[in-house]
Amino acid sequence: MSLPPPTLPSPLTRVADERLAGAGVELRLKRDDLIHPTVPGNKWRKLIPNLVAAREAGHTRVLTFGGAYSNHVRALAAAAAGQGLESVGVIRGDELANAPRNWSLARAEAAGMRLVFVDRARYRRLRETLHEPATRRRLADEFGPCAVLPEGGSNVPAARGAAAVAAELVTQLPDLGPRDLVCCAVGTGGTLAGIAAGLPPGARALGVAALRGGAGYLEREIAGLHADGWGRPFANWSLDHTGHGGGYGRVSPELDSFAAEFAERHGVRLELRYVAKALRHLYAAVAAGSVPRATRITLVVTGPPDPVAAPAPAADGS
Ligand SMILES: *Cc1c(COP(=O)(O)O)cnc(C)c1O
Repeated sequence: MSLPPPTLPSPLTRVADERLAGAGVELRLKRDDLIHPTVPGNKWRKLIPNLVAAREAGHTRVLTFGGAYSNHVRALAAAAAGQGLESVGVIRGDELANAPRNWSLARAEAAGMRLVFVDRARYRRLRETLHEPATRRRLADEFGPCAVLPEGGSNVPAARGAAAVAAELVTQLPDLGPRDLVCCAVGTGGTLAGIAAGLPPGARALGVAALRGGAGYLEREIAGLHADGWGRPFANWSLDHTGHGGGYGRVSPELDSFAAEFAERHGVRLELRYVAKALRHLYAAVAAGSVPRATRITLVVTGPPDPVAAPAPAADGS
């Protein structure tokens, strides 16, 4: 099953909004959500390099991890099928095994992914020991030889893939430089790491964390990707930890109405768990006067809206 071709470079569009213009700030959207129907947004950027490498290394199967509504898991299922690879999704929550599949898991399964449900303690252990040879051996014993992608898919090939966002921007905004702030929502940090590494001198990258409690950890992950992928640190990025709106997956009525108003004004429906949160945070920063005049903001739209509203997450964010 081969995938339809991607739309690359993704479009860059200007948003005319008097609330921003009054503060002397410009906004553009880098429409990565339009890259592909089943492997959209940063998932295309991050997954395709990994899957091409897996195939070239002789793998026939890839395995990854995620929660019940993981965009990463769903996109990997579609992308793997498109590359002729088998896929295994290790899903957090053993109670899901015998429950009716939600729309996201149903799509992953329909694309051919084998779903394996594990309890939260085992899931956490697997995630925390993923780099250890003993864990890799156990996964290979259980699921056969496979290329393993971490939760969220953020590794060096993924970050390098995300750097293409910055490379495209340079061709779309040839004077990209000191007045530019390139923003994205952050889950595991691979996208922000790549964008920061790809920007020309002077331009800055800002990530808005979609989850609560990642301060310190996420910065270390991103710095680690820079060290492993580029052999050096970058000083042009920062991460904001105040825009998560209550935690991962939380969609407040206020966030909903922000997104509804944006769709009404600008004709773009925003994905809620990441993209709308990041954009709302930017609007709030502009309203608070903390964005200097003449700043040109580009929001990387890292994915499309869900086809179905997700239910509120459990207290542990799952
Ligand atoms: C997966 C995802 C993210 C998070 O990307 P990271 O590279 O893990 O930080 C952001 N936005 C959307 C829409 C996503 O699906």
